[in-house]
Amino acid sequence: MNDTAVPERRFPTGTVLQAGGGIYDVLLDDQSRIRATLRGRLKLEQRTGDRVVAGDRVRIDAHPDGSFTIESVQPRKTQLARRAPGRHERHAKVIVANVDQVVLVFAAALPEPRRRMIDRLLVLAESNGIPAAIIINKADLASLTDLEAAFAAYERAGYPLLFTSVLTGRSIDALRHLLCGRESVLTGPSGAGKSSLLNAVEPGLELRVGDVSAAVRKGRHTTVTATLVPLACGGFVVDTPGLREVGLWGIDPEDLDACFPEFRPFLDHCRFGSSCTHTHEPDCAVRTAVESGGLDGERYLSYAAMMAGNA
Ligand code: GDP
Repeated sequence: MNDTAVPERRFPTGTVLQAGGGIYDVLLDDQSRIRATLRGRLKLEQRTGDRVVAGDRVRIDAHPDGSFTIESVQPRKTQLARRAPGRHERHAKVIVANVDQVVLVFAAALPEPRRRMIDRLLVLAESNGIPAAIIINKADLASLTDLEAAFAAYERAGYPLLFTSVLTGRSIDALRHLLCGRESVLTGPSGAGKSSLLNAVEPGLELRVGDVSAAVRKGRHTTVTATLVPLACGGFVVDTPGLREVGLWGIDPEDLDACFPEFRPFLDHCRFGSSCTHTHEPDCAVRTAVESGGLDGERYLSYAAMMAGNA
């Protein structure tokens, strides 16, 4: 044994639930919660740009005086970033790490689901390399046949799609299954039923998310922070102060087509190859597929609007 060997139990791993003011709330893997600060060397690394954020997996050292420090941060699987206002892209600020999925919550009606907004959020997830799922809530307000027809394009594009109702309990178990064990960002228009769904999945969860939002809004006007709210069944719901603040800035227009997964099989078949913008060029495989019904027209219109900077 060399004298640098340290018993493993002194360095438990955990997940950062919230970061702010140099203090980190961490849920250790044994489910205990601690508050930690950064170890000196990490502080130095932070000055070079990379911050420790909610969702980071960290290794903790427990000190004899009862304090805790973050010793190291594991490489991130994914990250959601936001550009600091008026700054260049390289100043992008990571607001949450290791998100497993973005869950879009829209309503079948009240409010009417806006296809452009759904598509924009899906592109946001794709461009960050994060899988997305779509929940159409308030399914009790429409016929299932109509809903299936209206949203078939998303299922064809490969997105998990659930029609839920808090009123009838429809697909609430399926939603719980989707959320358990994963770190999920829920997003969508207000009034779609996000809070009601969280409460149906786990009573009290909606309140915990709401509490965090209020506290974050009150305490930190200028900083966009995110908080992870643990689920009883494992996993986390991420509370962000608005995913829409995480803009499309990072996407090169040339890469937008690949953010529509169902377009991908066509992209190599345009006459102008990868330089085709699918807006006006002759012999465009994407537009031909839209015209023949092989690709959904509404999805294409969202693409065209984003290319034109109108979405
Ligand atoms: P949020 O703003 O997305 O968090 O939406 P809320 O959870 O506050 O819900 C907005 C309104 O929609 C409330 O009046 C809810 O009672 C109602 N609501 C939520 N889920 C359903 C549902 O499945 N069916 C119907 N008919 N109403 C719902």
